[in-house]
Amino acid sequence: MLGVVVVGIGIAGRVRIRDLLNPMPNTPSENLKLIGFVSRRTLGKIEHVDQITLDEALLSDQVQAAIICLENSFHEEYTRKFLNAGKHVCVEYPMALSVAAAGELWDLADAKGKILHVEHIELLTAEYNLLKQKVSGKELMEGTLHFTGGPLDRQRNGFPAFSGIARLTWLIDLFGELTFKSATLSEDLKQQYWKMTAHLHTKDNRALTWIEERGPGLRRGKQINFQFKSDILDRLPEVPNNHSGLFMKDLNLFVQKLVGQHLTDTPERKRILHCLGLADEMKAFCEQSPSNCHDY
Ligand code: NAD
Repeated sequence: MLGVVVVGIGIAGRVRIRDLLNPMPNTPSENLKLIGFVSRRTLGKIEHVDQITLDEALLSDQVQAAIICLENSFHEEYTRKFLNAGKHVCVEYPMALSVAAAGELWDLADAKGKILHVEHIELLTAEYNLLKQKVSGKELMEGTLHFTGGPLDRQRNGFPAFSGIARLTWLIDLFGELTFKSATLSEDLKQQYWKMTAHLHTKDNRALTWIEERGPGLRRGKQINFQFKSDILDRLPEVPNNHSGLFMKDLNLFVQKLVGQHLTDTPERKRILHCLGLADEMKAFCEQSPSNCHDY
């Protein structure tokens, strides 16, 4: 059994605790034992699991791995702390708020001989898997992916290209490596509203537009318009709205790596670093030139 701690008790952290207490029978997740959880708040016990301090988690011989569920701005710092303490790490996406930091974290994991796994549950949903099947083998002419959702604090979650990395991951997993062309960010801080529009090209020079828009009253959802040579895909496949079990699937991927069942994560690392590199470019482009960044 491998001892594990959950760090950060928000929505994701609570799901992680629930999953660790109820592993899926006959799956790798049965190899994990939840030792405790770490929170910056005093929460006492959650479902009979003890809160422990960060130092206890870092120093304990019982703890072999940590699952980092903090807000995005803390991912790099906590991942680094646990790797330096000789623990394996599973971190929720995005693993860091720059490609340079992500590269350093993987170098550190390799130097320490530890697994560093990044959760990407957006690739595990039934909706996405059906979409991927529908896109497979088709020639893209141009496309748009537009995400909307409620307000999100940029201080805690990073520039929109990072907080929205799940959407960029979809585009790259569907259409291969992309080249950044330009981006704009419009925002109204008082209204907690912002909209990023990023223009990308596929290897065949086909234009892809990614829009990430958040503000009060915006319903969480994704709209697509993918124009292929053969036909147009303008809505996501309809599947029962059931997201249960996604974090459990991810947990099993992490444990497969821990027990050596998953031999190489090179393509995964390449995809993650490519996404973060593009996110870096979008952020730099919007921040460098005020004309690309405007207030209402
Ligand atoms: P969250 O806002 O629920 O929690 C984030 C952090 O805020 C947690 O560390 C928690 O300790 C802290 N927090 C929560 N409520 C608090 C409160 N009342 N007072 C003080 N601190 C509080 O966010 P989340 O949805 O759990 O996301 C955590 C990470 O997981 C993020 O990096 C996110 O990108 C990633 N993630 C989440 C989901 C999801 O479905 N929730 C899916 C994929 C990835």
